[in-house]
Amino acid sequence: MRVLDTAALLYWPVTELSGGICSTSQQSELEQVSLQRYMLISSLDIDWRVPTPDWIDEAKQQAASSGDLPRLSAVDVDVLALAIGLNMPLYTDDYRMQNVMQMAGLTTHSVGTTGAKQVWQWELRCTGCRATEAVPPSINSSKSGPVKECSSCGAAMMLKRKKQ
Ligand SMILES: [Zn+2]
Repeated sequence: MRVLDTAALLYWPVTELSGGICSTSQQSELEQVSLQRYMLISSLDIDWRVPTPDWIDEAKQQAASSGDLPRLSAVDVDVLALAIGLNMPLYTDDYRMQNVMQMAGLTTHSVGTTGAKQVWQWELRCTGCRATEAVPPSINSSKSGPVKECSSCGAAMMLKRKKQ
């Protein structure tokens, strides 16, 4: 489970948003920015919550400690209150919100799709002689099992994560 800021609601593919936790105050913010998007989002399975007064106090305290509070909107504070109150990671690109989350000892992730995901590289490795080969572009796709025979020893080559 994760808390999503309004940028995620605006830019993420709808399939990614399902099950995300958001503040009800983000609905009106979203409606102002993009009515179309708001209507689309309304049909999704998003867990809309109202942060408790305690959670809001806690978020404001953390934001005051980091010095970010004066620059945060009421909606920002609501979103932070949910993440802090529920003890969940927050997805946001707002550096002030990231800063407050860090102050609270909690995790943030970027909303942006570039750089956020780790890129894995794969190669073929021989089960016999341990030779490695780059994955050829012509290879047949299969979900599991040997990919091809080793050109050195004839044993099966398996797809393995490249060691870095
Ligand atoms: Zn081999």
